[in-house]
Amino acid sequence: MAQIQLKNIVKVYGDGFAAVDDVSIDIDDGEFVILVGPSGSGKSTLLRMIAGLEDITSGDLTIGGTRVNEKAPRDRGLAMVFQNYALYPHLTVYENIAFPLRLAKHRMKDADVDAAVRNAAGLLELEEHLERKPANLSGGQRQRVAMGRALVREANAFLFDEPLSNLDAKLRGQMRTEIARLQRRLGTTTVYVTHDQTEAMTLGDRVAVLRRGVLQQVASPRELYEQP
Ligand code: ADP
Ligand code: ADP
Repeated sequence: MAQIQLKNIVKVYGDGFAAVDDVSIDIDDGEFVILVGPSGSGKSTLLRMIAGLEDITSGDLTIGGTRVNEKAPRDRGLAMVFQNYALYPHLTVYENIAFPLRLAKHRMKDADVDAAVRNAAGLLELEEHLERKPANLSGGQRQRVAMGRALVREANAFLFDEPLSNLDAKLRGQMRTEIARLQRRLGTTTVYVTHDQTEAMTLGDRVAVLRRGVLQQVASPRELYEQP
């Protein structure tokens, strides 16, 4: 787990447009922060800068006390779950979850891979589906496999970019409950982008509101709700 600190973060795209304009926020160890704002307000750009998928024009990004502006995505210790979860269609659920651990860098023993996969599958209630292929899963189950793949990485923090937006209302409700439960059990620092008000009000410790690239306010869901 790690603290994520953004200090005066700016993103200016090639055409001179400031998509993110001087954003500063300290996210505590274990905190779940929801990023909301209208379409085009800079949410994805901000998340992608934290992930390392987008260069930071200026400002300082610190994860766990280390400045990471120039670090490659894989060296930031983050796990990402995006809305277009890319599962490997030819691999089973088990092998999809195990995938990050099979990469040469980790050189994990099969028994350790197995323990990690089964632990994640247990947390996500996927034990019954480990031998199935993604094509034979529901949207919610696929999303859970994508989360399982993020979980086994034992990341310092999770980044979610509208992870539930492709699901129908019922599944969305189930997954919301699932994510809340996981957060209580794991307590992993999380930044979660959504435009869904229910997700914003029920999942987050704090909600950060972006508008035209500027951070308008950061408040608890309760404080936001009680505003006139
Ligand atoms: P959100 O996630 O809140 O919908 P984005 O971060 O995707 O917002 O986009 C913020 C702004 O930056 C938008 O005005 C968008 O058009 C612009 N933008 C996003 N990506 C690029 C890009 N690669 N080049 C230029 N402008 C971009
Ligand atoms: P390597 O150091 O060999 O690139 P990594 O464990 O860092 O190995 O991951 C390899 C690739 O897999 C990276 O590009 C990483 O971004 C990607 N990857 C796979 N699953 C995830 C995930 N859940 N979150 C973030 N990145 C992931």
